[in-house]
Amino acid sequence: MRYSLTSLLINALTGHKSWKPQWRDAEPQDGYDVVIVGGGGHGLATAYYLAKEHGITNVAVLEKAWIGSGNVGRNTTIVRSNYLLPGNIPLYELSMKLWEGLEQNFNYNAMISQRGVLNLYHSDGQRDAYARRGNAMRIHRVDAELLDQVGVRKLYPFLNFDNARFPIQGGLLQRRGGTVRHDAVAWGYARGASDRGVDIVQNCEVTGFCFDNGRVTGVQTSRGLIRAKKVAIAVAGNSSRVAAMAGMRLPIESHVIQAFVSEGLKPIIPGVITFGAGHFYISQSDKGGLVFGGDIDGYNSYAQRGNLPVVEDVCEGGMALMPAIGRARILRNWGGLLDMTMDGSPIIDRTATEGLYLNAGWCYGGFKATPGSGFAFAHLIARDAPHPAAVHLRLDRFRTGHVIDEKGQGAQPLPVLWTPRRRRIQLSRRCDTEAARYRRRRCRH
Ligand SMILES: Cc1cc2nc3c(=O)[nH]c(=O)nc-3n(C[C@H](O)[C@H](O)[C@H](O)COP(=O)(O)OP(=O)(O)OC[C@H]3O[C@@H](n4cnc5c(N)ncnc54)[C@H](O)[C@@H]3O)c2cc1C
Repeated sequence: MRYSLTSLLINALTGHKSWKPQWRDAEPQDGYDVVIVGGGGHGLATAYYLAKEHGITNVAVLEKAWIGSGNVGRNTTIVRSNYLLPGNIPLYELSMKLWEGLEQNFNYNAMISQRGVLNLYHSDGQRDAYARRGNAMRIHRVDAELLDQVGVRKLYPFLNFDNARFPIQGGLLQRRGGTVRHDAVAWGYARGASDRGVDIVQNCEVTGFCFDNGRVTGVQTSRGLIRAKKVAIAVAGNSSRVAAMAGMRLPIESHVIQAFVSEGLKPIIPGVITFGAGHFYISQSDKGGLVFGGDIDGYNSYAQRGNLPVVEDVCEGGMALMPAIGRARILRNWGGLLDMTMDGSPIIDRTATEGLYLNAGWCYGGFKATPGSGFAFAHLIARDAPHPAAVHLRLDRFRTGHVIDEKGQGAQPLPVLWTPRRRRIQLSRRCDTEAARYRRRRCRH
């Protein structure tokens, strides 16, 4: 059913009894042309664009739980394309352009709100780095504005500009960035794909892969064997686990990251703000809750719940940036999983096994990439050639050394250790001796 003012009126006058489920809850068939493992944003978007752009509709999306139960429904909803490196900018900008027309495209209200994303800077060096990033963006025809302190004050007068440790000097603003209602993205893509004939199979966990002569021939699942000509993996935080079933060891670690929502407040934060001197970012939902988050938890895990040290770290960041936040009560918090590659950039590529494709390594930024990633992954699966926007996002870059080191700080993630006295040790080249010393001490006790 197409949503329109007329359909809304008709249903309103008839007691809202004829709305149909938004997608078919399909039973798995014996075989498909394409099986997509993972019913998150990326898997569903891939299925949608396979059907819509390439006419490939004999497709199943296999989801071990329910649609939207993963990170697509757990993130803090920020979308932007303010990247630095030529390997990344085209994909994120493709994504941004797709966000801009998405609601009309899949006829679903995803509450896309281009309210602006502002990255604050707190030192001359950071200003220069942001100026460079803004220039790189503009070279790629992505909008970017470098604001000084006066410019930021006009937008957000309540920030703590004169914090003795982290005075706010200005910020890099992308006005086209903003927020999107995350679970509506999953539902919209699921509905659009299902309408075009894709089977969305929930409660169907992939437990193994079938191969014949170096080619993938199907998947084993909790609901039986499903044959497939092509299999695409898009399981985000579970990438290393699922890839291991296919005999692959990925350059990816899974880490927990937490999100927080406060009680509903009157509108105070019109856009998205990120603190440049710590890991803290914040926006306000349409219901009024402040939505915020920070750093990853400093250990590898597949558990979708986090721990208290990061809660404290996030609250400290929030208080340094806008002390007024200290009066807001936190209503909810939860954890999700990030599939962190060592260079901070994603992978959209074929694997060494014929017919097996990989979409992974989205780190902190997979939600904003959802439309672009699905579009490029569908292109790769349908044509067996990379989409021009994803041409650098190859798996073998970690072997050949052509990494896309977006942050320019070497291998990531940099885990954090917490000492018993709650001192935070960031493992980096500079301080790994200190961390090693702490670890040795801890082992002795
Ligand atoms: C707290 C938090 C905040 C974030 N904030 C942002 C943000 O503001 N902006 C941004 O761009 N990104 C953000 N992210 C990252 C973003 O959410 C993820 O990178 C992105 O959602 C991952 O892609 P996905 O939607 O396909 O993943 P998921 O929704 O996790 O989809 C993967 C699916 O695969 C399924 N699966 C796993 N194993 C199997 C199996 N064996 N068989 C079948 N199915 C399987 C899972 O159940 C899951 O549903 C955040 C993440 C978290 C957790």
